[in-house]
Amino acid sequence: MPTVSIIGRPNVGKSTLFNRLVGRRRAIVHDLPGVTRDRIVGEADVGIDHRLQLVDTGGLAPDAALGLNEQVLLAVEESDLLLLVVDGKEGLTSADRAVWEQLRRYDKPTQLVVNKADTRHAREGYGEFYALGIPTVHLVSAEHGAGVEDLREALSRALPESLPRRAEAPAVAIVGRPNVGKSSLLNRIVGEPRVLVSPEPGTTRDPIDTLIRRHGKDYLLIDTAGIRRRSRVSGTPEELAVMMARRQLERADVALLVLDAAAGVTTGDLSIAGTAWELGRGVVVAVNKWDLLDDDRRQHLERGWERLEQLLAAPRRVNVSAATGRGVGRIFGPLDETLAAFRRQFGTGEVNRLFEQAVTEHQPPSLQGRPWKLFYATQVATGPPTFMLFANRPLPRHHAYRRYLENRLRQTLGLEGVPVRLVVRKRQ
Ligand code: GDP
Repeated sequence: MPTVSIIGRPNVGKSTLFNRLVGRRRAIVHDLPGVTRDRIVGEADVGIDHRLQLVDTGGLAPDAALGLNEQVLLAVEESDLLLLVVDGKEGLTSADRAVWEQLRRYDKPTQLVVNKADTRHAREGYGEFYALGIPTVHLVSAEHGAGVEDLREALSRALPESLPRRAEAPAVAIVGRPNVGKSSLLNRIVGEPRVLVSPEPGTTRDPIDTLIRRHGKDYLLIDTAGIRRRSRVSGTPEELAVMMARRQLERADVALLVLDAAAGVTTGDLSIAGTAWELGRGVVVAVNKWDLLDDDRRQHLERGWERLEQLLAAPRRVNVSAATGRGVGRIFGPLDETLAAFRRQFGTGEVNRLFEQAVTEHQPPSLQGRPWKLFYATQVATGPPTFMLFANRPLPRHHAYRRYLENRLRQTLGLEGVPVRLVVRKRQ
């Protein structure tokens, strides 16, 4: 994938532009072949349905006067194109000239981005930047988004050959009560502690999502970006955990719900599970701290498990120990199965045969004196699988027959741990 680096002196808005271009797929990539350092990399959508790899060098040289250091220059060397960012509000500075003096030696295609161009002063004065001798100049406001779409277009035109098509890595939220071992598990999965980089001295960067690759497959592990910081929110740690889980889940496809085996299944666990379910996310359960179990605790756990199992429609489960690493590799099989079920599109023929059989085996009830009759069913959405049923009358939300149909569907189609939505429409 072609790589574009965002370069410039401090405070011109490199990270804002990076975040704007990358959107929710912010990530630290750990497994670039041959690269041992962390760097802040994300994928940006450009043109129609294509993407490229973007490097934010702001986080690599937080203190350097020109925003340059050996790491940044390595990133420059490995780039196919550079975006030199300058500050339209301040105008051309000697630091900008000095940065460009260093960059031009690498002889890389470079486009100039005049950021903070949302003021009249900037729009009228940007002509002075042509003195740098970079012919392609974009006026943008990274903060407000102006000009950013044109920049995407320009990038796709500048790097036509090798742009791969967009293919989103499935997003996985690691959720659970405080202290169940989410961070420990995440670190086990990633294989090393994550490095959080400060863009400016004295500030910490938001935790960011982590893109990992395993056996050639990508997964985006969703972090609680920005949640801890914001917050005049009050509440107990448990209540905050539910709130954080909700924010993570909103951006995820599936949840990896982490439990503390020694604590058993608690109401806090059920509450987070319920949130995932209500938001329509698939769930895999990792029962962590397995190393701490003795017979008593184990029985206690299995008794509590039944409630959770019912709530999440028999989710896939893995017993793990983040402390020893046991079982952690076995998370991915169930995760892939749940993701596949979550996203799968079933044929209309198959769906109708299935419903016909379900109706034959267990006759529908009478509603308002008349038998409920199903005419036709079809899957209208994936993630979660959503089915439209045309019938002689609607089926109330909590009707037992609706649950029966959902369960039949789930068992036959392998949708364990995946919420299923049935939309019943009346048709004469
Ligand atoms: P988080 O709040 O869910 O992110 O939990 P942490 O990852 O910070 O872990 C909470 C505590 O549990 C830490 O002291 C960990 O060392 C410990 N811990 C995590 N996983 C395990 C495990 O599998 N076994 C044992 N014995 N301790 C664990």
